[in-house]
Amino acid sequence: MTVLFTVLSLSVLATVLAGLVSLADFRLNNYGVCTIDINDGSRRFEVKGGSSLLSTLASQKVFIPSACGGKATCGLCKVTMLESVGPILPTEEPYISEKEREAGVRLACQVKVKQDLKIKIPEELFNIKQYRTRVAEIVQLTHDIKQFRFELLEPKTIDFKAGQYIQIDSKPYDKVREAVSRAYSISSVPSEKNIVELIIRLVPGGICTTFMHEHVSEGDEITFAGPFGDFYLRDGADELIFIAGGSGLAPIRSLVLDILEKNLDKKMKFFFGAVRRRDLYYVDFFQELERKYSNFEYIPALSGAAPEDEWEGETGLITDVVARHVPDGVNRQAYLCGSPGMINACVNVLTKIGFDRSAIFFDEF
Ligand SMILES: Cc1cc2nc3c(=O)[nH]c(=O)nc-3n(C[C@H](O)[C@H](O)[C@H](O)COP(=O)(O)OP(=O)(O)OC[C@H]3O[C@@H](n4cnc5c(N)ncnc54)[C@H](O)[C@@H]3O)c2cc1C
Repeated sequence: MTVLFTVLSLSVLATVLAGLVSLADFRLNNYGVCTIDINDGSRRFEVKGGSSLLSTLASQKVFIPSACGGKATCGLCKVTMLESVGPILPTEEPYISEKEREAGVRLACQVKVKQDLKIKIPEELFNIKQYRTRVAEIVQLTHDIKQFRFELLEPKTIDFKAGQYIQIDSKPYDKVREAVSRAYSISSVPSEKNIVELIIRLVPGGICTTFMHEHVSEGDEITFAGPFGDFYLRDGADELIFIAGGSGLAPIRSLVLDILEKNLDKKMKFFFGAVRRRDLYYVDFFQELERKYSNFEYIPALSGAAPEDEWEGETGLITDVVARHVPDGVNRQAYLCGSPGMINACVNVLTKIGFDRSAIFFDEF
C-alpha cells in the first residue's frame, strides 16, 4: 500500500513539474519579434524569436553553410556578431579560434534569436539559392555509392565553381522524424547549368544517405541550397595533382572536366585510392579522358587487392603511390578530397616532397 502511494505521489509530482517546465518554457521562450540586420543594412528583416540563427536565416532565404544540419559538429556556420549575444557555448569552443572569438565569431546553429541582432556574413552568401529539383537519374556506381542526377525546376539554372558543394534537404522516413541538411560536392561541370550531379556514399545508420539511397526514386522532387565552399581552382602552377578516395571523387571530377572543357594550359595527374576493385568506379570514364587528352593522367590504386581482383595497376597506400609519381612541389598544386585520415596522410607526404602548405587545397568528409 505504502509502495503504491509513493509511486502515485511521484507520478503526480512528475506531471506537475513537467507542466511547470512547459509553462516556463512557453513564457521564457516568447521572445516576440526581433530584427536581424546583416552587413550594416544590406539585408534587414523582422522575425519571430526563439529559433536558432541558422534556421531563422534560412527561413529568410539567407543560407549559411552547414554540413551537420545544426548539431555543432561541423563548425561551418560561422557568422560575426557585431553586438554581443552572450558568452560562447562549450559546443562552439572547438571550432572558434581565439582571434575569431575576439572578433565576435559564433556558430549560427548555436545562437538563439532572442533579441535584435546585427551580424556580418560574406557577401557571396547572398547569392546562395534554394533549388527545387527533380531526380532525373540514379545510377549504382559501387556496392555503396550512387550517382544522382537532378534536373533543376526552380530556379532553372545554377552558377557554381567546379569543386563547390550544395546542401540537400532530406525528408522524414520510417522512424526518422527529423529532416536534415547535408553537404554533397557537385560532380558535374559548371557549364551544364540545368543539371547537378552528386555522388553519394551510403553511411550505415546515416540519416541523409539512407534517405537518398533507400527512399528516393527517379522522378521524386528534392530541394537543395547552394553553391557553397572554397574548394575550387586557384591561379598559379603548371601541374595539378588530384587525390581522392571514396565519394571524394565528386568535386575532382567536376574540376578535371571543367579544366579540360576550358582548355586550360595545365597538366593533371589524378590519383584515386581504393581498397578493392569493387570500390573503384568511373574507371572507363577517366581512362577514356586519358586517351583523349595528353595533359591528363589517371592513376587508380588498390591498397588491399586480392588475387580475384586480377589487378595489374598500382598497389599500396595512395600516399606511397603519390610519392612514386610526383617528384617535387615545384610549380605544382595539390587538390585532395576524401576522409580526414587520407587527407592528413597526403598533406604529410606532399609537404615532405616539397609542396608548400599554401599550394595544397582540400575538402574532407
Ligand atoms: C563540404 C562537404 C562535402 C561533402 N561531399 C560529399 C559527397 O560528395 N559525397 C558524400 O557521400 N558525402 C559528402 N559529404 C559528407 C556528407 O555531408 C554527410 O556527412 C554524409 O553523407 C553522412 O550523412 P548522413 O546524414 O547519412 O549521416 P549522419 O546521420 O550525419 O551520420 C553520420 C555518422 O554518425 C553516425 N550516427 C548518426 N546518428 C548517431 C547517433 N545518434 N549515435 C551514434 N552515431 C550516430 C552514423 O551511423 C554515421 O556513421 C560532404 C561533407 C562535406 C563537409
